[in-house]
Amino acid sequence: MKCIICHGEEISPADVFEEIAVGSNIVRVPLTVMLCRGCGERYYTRANMRHLEGVREDIANQRARLDEVGKVLQFR
Ligand SMILES: [Zn+2]
Repeated sequence: MKCIICHGEEISPADVFEEIAVGSNIVRVPLTVMLCRGCGERYYTRANMRHLEGVREDIANQRARLDEVGKVLQFR
């Protein structure tokens, strides 16, 4: 598999956080994706997409278990 962005060939599985915006909050979702080591482009499998869809639904229906892990600070 070649990266469509940088044409590099070093693409391997990596544990990342996908960030989903919910209002002014960000939900970080742990996910294993294929990652280009050259440019950082992420490649999502159908299972990845299905999982993220499910997470979005759980958040929308307030079924998601979310822990607060930090704060977002806005500079004035
Ligand atoms: Zn790349």
